[in-house]
Amino acid sequence: MSKSGERLYQRILEDILVRLSLVLKDTPNFSYSLHEPDFFGNEVRYLENCISSQFVSSVGKFVDEFEEKLANYTGAKYVVLTVNGTTGLQLALQISGVSHGSEVLMPSLNFVAGANAVSHIGGIPHFIDVDAMRLTLCPVILEKHLNQICEIKNGVPLNRRTKRKISAILPMHIFGHAADIYNLRRVAKQFNITLVEDAAEALGSFNNGKHLGSRSNVAVLSFNGNKIITTGGGGAILTNNKKLAAHAKHLSTTAKVAHKWRFFHDEIGYNFRMPNLNAALGLAQLEGLEKKLNNKRTLATEYIKAFRKSEYVDIVKEPKNCKSNYWLNTIILKEGTNELQDYLIYKLHQEKIFVRPVWEPLHSLAPYRNCPRTIMTNTENLAPRILNLPSSPQILKQ
Ligand SMILES: *Cc1c(COP(=O)(O)O)cnc(C)c1O
Repeated sequence: MSKSGERLYQRILEDILVRLSLVLKDTPNFSYSLHEPDFFGNEVRYLENCISSQFVSSVGKFVDEFEEKLANYTGAKYVVLTVNGTTGLQLALQISGVSHGSEVLMPSLNFVAGANAVSHIGGIPHFIDVDAMRLTLCPVILEKHLNQICEIKNGVPLNRRTKRKISAILPMHIFGHAADIYNLRRVAKQFNITLVEDAAEALGSFNNGKHLGSRSNVAVLSFNGNKIITTGGGGAILTNNKKLAAHAKHLSTTAKVAHKWRFFHDEIGYNFRMPNLNAALGLAQLEGLEKKLNNKRTLATEYIKAFRKSEYVDIVKEPKNCKSNYWLNTIILKEGTNELQDYLIYKLHQEKIFVRPVWEPLHSLAPYRNCPRTIMTNTENLAPRILNLPSSPQILKQ
């Protein structure tokens, strides 16, 4: 690299470090993790209770109670717990009518789980560019694209180019920030396509006072170890439709028909139910959610103050009329390349500041390279510029 290029990299690193030092506690040798779980409530008590009850598998009072409390909190009528978010997505898509050989529209700037879940049921991901400001599935680009490629035959939306059915739109609420769900829903309606929300990162995030995912056909949460609350591994399907909820639960429990002793199964089911043990952990975590959200908001507010008026980076804030959980705080380099991104990550990791890049755009991954897609101007422009900052509230200066 040229001397001047190197000096620019150093100046950008210096700018980021100075701003981070305004926020991060300065304990020597402290490790600033990206997102650590914390267990400060009833976790151990509930786990002990669960173990002594012998009900450690997928039937038990913690499963029922965690489902009920999640429904209360999110405002969704029904909740079905799953072993993780990815299987939750798979079930959510299947009960929404995503079938073998049909296409699901989703952002390319995305975690791979959504595309995998579609593929696991024989569907084909169809990637759409994101909004440059919001980082989420762009309704304007989506509508324009559908106007070009979609025709509705007997009420069924078809991709004119591939001749395949378009069976769902799967927006994702990136880092806990809401996608433009109002306009996405409008486009979905216009083309008679079902909306399924990947709200894996968005427990505790709201749009116009409504919890994300609580107003769509179906939505999915994740409780993986690095999410806002954790069950070790786990996920949940949210829906307001009783039939869909029953179908999800049925499929998740081997599609077994209720009978006192016989084993009848009326569909090809799965073993996707969340064990009681994990639900016990989840219930305790949910009790601590409000406190955690407050701490996350304090951290985000400090970061936003610290990164004000930087020459080199912008910081992501919650969209208008939305309340984000600020799961991961995010800065965007004004000018970025993979090389600069790698340099910054390498240097910051040496300081035990565990920043991370955004995922590689899905349309560039080997298994998804040949999937249908739009032009990816915003996605390709953004991917080398995005850095997630350490976002555990524990890292905050007192
Ligand atoms: C975490 C995550 C998932 C999958 O959740 P798992 O519980 O890890 O299977 C899906 N989509 C997004 C956007 C995620 O961040």
